[in-house]
Amino acid sequence: MEQGAQRALLLHSSSLSDSPQNFGNPSSIHWAGRKAKSAIDQARDTIAAALGVEDPDSLCFTGSATEAINAALKGFFFHEHREGRQVRLVTSAVEHEATLETARFLESLGARVELLPVNQRGELDLGRLESALEKKQSKESVLVSLLAANNETGVIFPWEKAAKIAKSNGAYFHLDGVQALGKLPGFRITNHVDLASFSAHKIGGPKGVGVLVIRKGTPLVSHLHGGAQERKRRAGTVNGPGIAAFAAAAAALAQRDLAAIDQLRAGLEAKVSELISGTAVQGAGAARLVNTSNFLFEGVRGEALLMALDLEGFAVSAGSACNSGSILPSHVLLAMGLDKAAAQSAIRVSLGPHNTQEELSLFTAALEKAVARIRAQGPRASLRS
Ligand code: PLP
Repeated sequence: MEQGAQRALLLHSSSLSDSPQNFGNPSSIHWAGRKAKSAIDQARDTIAAALGVEDPDSLCFTGSATEAINAALKGFFFHEHREGRQVRLVTSAVEHEATLETARFLESLGARVELLPVNQRGELDLGRLESALEKKQSKESVLVSLLAANNETGVIFPWEKAAKIAKSNGAYFHLDGVQALGKLPGFRITNHVDLASFSAHKIGGPKGVGVLVIRKGTPLVSHLHGGAQERKRRAGTVNGPGIAAFAAAAAALAQRDLAAIDQLRAGLEAKVSELISGTAVQGAGAARLVNTSNFLFEGVRGEALLMALDLEGFAVSAGSACNSGSILPSHVLLAMGLDKAAAQSAIRVSLGPHNTQEELSLFTAALEKAVARIRAQGPRASLRS
């Protein structure tokens, strides 16, 4: 395990013991509460620095990135709706379900929702964003919400330019930065981003902690009521031990060797394409994250492959994690123009800082065998022609 992740877990378990940081409620005025608050303030500074955020108070801790995204989209909608303004959400067809399903819910409450398409490589056309924003009406409030990078294909969106375009057209911008932190070299939130969501467990921290960055002055109401925590932006006692571990994982990112992971991933894709005929890497040719490969093997169902690899001890995903266990084809691959059968034959391989070349060699051999065995059982899926 990477040293940073190990430290994050150690910190998590030591904070879970009976230490004052854990015993105290950071909202309490007594000594134990003050200790807990001070530990959270320190963590807030560390995470803000890792994100390139100048004002640590703009960080609002949540229980996950899904919650942060809900807080951003619903908080904006409810604020603007209360002011009597029509709300439009402009997002893309390949967003995480946290964004897409929240947008659908808000649509049922009267928001207008526009989904921007992607091309066959999964790339976003900024021209489409510009034309969507040119139509902005005077009494309309627009929130653009986009991924920094896709969780299924690793394809990177031109989010900095998109945020600039949003601002110059009088719209607000939310960034789903979950996949960018720790996987996109030099990632820092820029000035044009009003809201941004992140998750601790995507960088080696614990599950159950996220953060929403809220630039001062962004119109937003709290999505949770019943307490004044997090500057009245998210009611409920915060997860102190989880936040401390999130900070430890964030601090460790500076030591992460992204170039080494990129090299491993490039080697893996080259080897798999060489050894296994009918392989297609989704998003190949587009700018992608260092750690994500989305493979499609002609005539092979992703789920069958996932199970075969699982028996060999390898954990890969078919489609998006939220669709695992179901036979739904990935909405991301469908939006990239694949048909249903092809979209169901994809697997996603994510590398971490702890993976080695030896592991990848074992993985490639297991993959080659599994694909051959499944193909021998008969063709059940097709690639895009
Ligand atoms: N957004 C993206 C791009 C993700 O990959 C994920 C999780 O996989 C999320 C949002 C949701 O994060 P969480 O698991 O913290 O709710």
